[in-house]
Amino acid sequence: MAKKDIEYCDFCGRPESEADLLIKGMNANICNICAEQAHIIIEQSFETKKDKKKSNKTKEPLSDELSLKTPQEIKRFLDQYVIGQDFAKKILSVAVYNHYKRLQQPDADNEVEIQKSNVIMVGETGTGKTLVARTIAKMLNVPIAIVDATVLTEAGYVGEDVEGILSRLLQAADYDVEKAERGIVFIDEIDKIARKSDNPSITRDVSGEGVQQALLKLLEGSIVNVPPKGGRKHPDQQYVQVNTEHILFIAGGAFDGINRVISKRLNMQAVGYNSSKNTQVDRKNLIQYIIPKDLKDFGLIPEIIGRLPVLTYMNPLDNSTLRMILTEPKNAIIKQYKKLFEMDGIDFDITEEALNFIVERALEYKLGARGLRSLCENILTDAMFELPESGINKLTVTKEYAEEKLNKSSLHIPS
Ligand code: ADP
Repeated sequence: MAKKDIEYCDFCGRPESEADLLIKGMNANICNICAEQAHIIIEQSFETKKDKKKSNKTKEPLSDELSLKTPQEIKRFLDQYVIGQDFAKKILSVAVYNHYKRLQQPDADNEVEIQKSNVIMVGETGTGKTLVARTIAKMLNVPIAIVDATVLTEAGYVGEDVEGILSRLLQAADYDVEKAERGIVFIDEIDKIARKSDNPSITRDVSGEGVQQALLKLLEGSIVNVPPKGGRKHPDQQYVQVNTEHILFIAGGAFDGINRVISKRLNMQAVGYNSSKNTQVDRKNLIQYIIPKDLKDFGLIPEIIGRLPVLTYMNPLDNSTLRMILTEPKNAIIKQYKKLFEMDGIDFDITEEALNFIVERALEYKLGARGLRSLCENILTDAMFELPESGINKLTVTKEYAEEKLNKSSLHIPS
């Protein structure tokens, strides 16, 4: 065999001149980069085998801490972080409790199989949907992946495949497969993958129905091949098998316009022959009457709705709830600023009028509690920039101070 003039890596095609090291074999060469990658693949493959062996063993009981939480204890924990939303917190406490009870069901008990209690939460943006999911994960000390449904696409299209969701969960679990398999996935903006057309047979809706179909297999509980590092699938990449049977899925969405769907249904019921049974309808907050059929009418396919059997809603945040969010939760925004200033030896205070002023502005922005944070940031940035080297050790934010800072900031709405 004639000797090649230039030697190449037979794995990536890199010429010897571009590699730090080219290891030459009898019939093939490998560069240092490919050798390192091969090493990672070998390690991952051993880990997957180890994990599989572990999961073949009898189900380990969850930690004591986890098994002790009753629905009321879960709710009390949520109360420390999430203001209001009592109905949603109650529904979720029971769903989480049942989910983890199901996890502890012995394999031998196949007489009654407890179904998954995946949850769907409907409510305007900034009302605490993500916060609730995060808080539950914190309480249970399980990994959580928060993903946006809008980036998901059907396999083969530009965007993220649904398996990428599990890559994120694996990442959050430090690549401990067993831990990931007991984690929580929060799928945000699920309403954005609703079917756009009422007639599924005419249009093939790539971004909507196709993604819903792809999600089904994750939600129902199956073994999914997951590219460990996420991103684009690579033919050489080793997959990690993740069983989604015990993963709790919580979906959330604003479902803009769902009030019209609910209203229409309620009106039809009102003219129906059993209308006498109808009690007074609170027209100002229709979301409380939501039923699974409304989600179907909005464009979710029945199979998805079936796999998210626990439906709950978040109330829009009113003036008094927003006011409480500023100061009441364990890690309330104002408490956080107080701590930050305290670290510079500054005593931080804010008047009641200033707090009410921030709440009023947040209501104008219609961003729920999300607006509170950016308002506070705009009001306090100057102080946080200037005070640390000013020798001043007291800051009291009044309504006038807040108004002045806000009028100068990007959040100012000209009246
Ligand atoms: P969503 O997921 O409904 O759009 P988030 O949960 O992301 O809203 O809320 C945005 C921020 O607003 C959270 O980080 C949290 O600080 C605050 N927040 C929203 N709702 C509440 C609530 N009910 N109680 C306490 N804080 C809240």
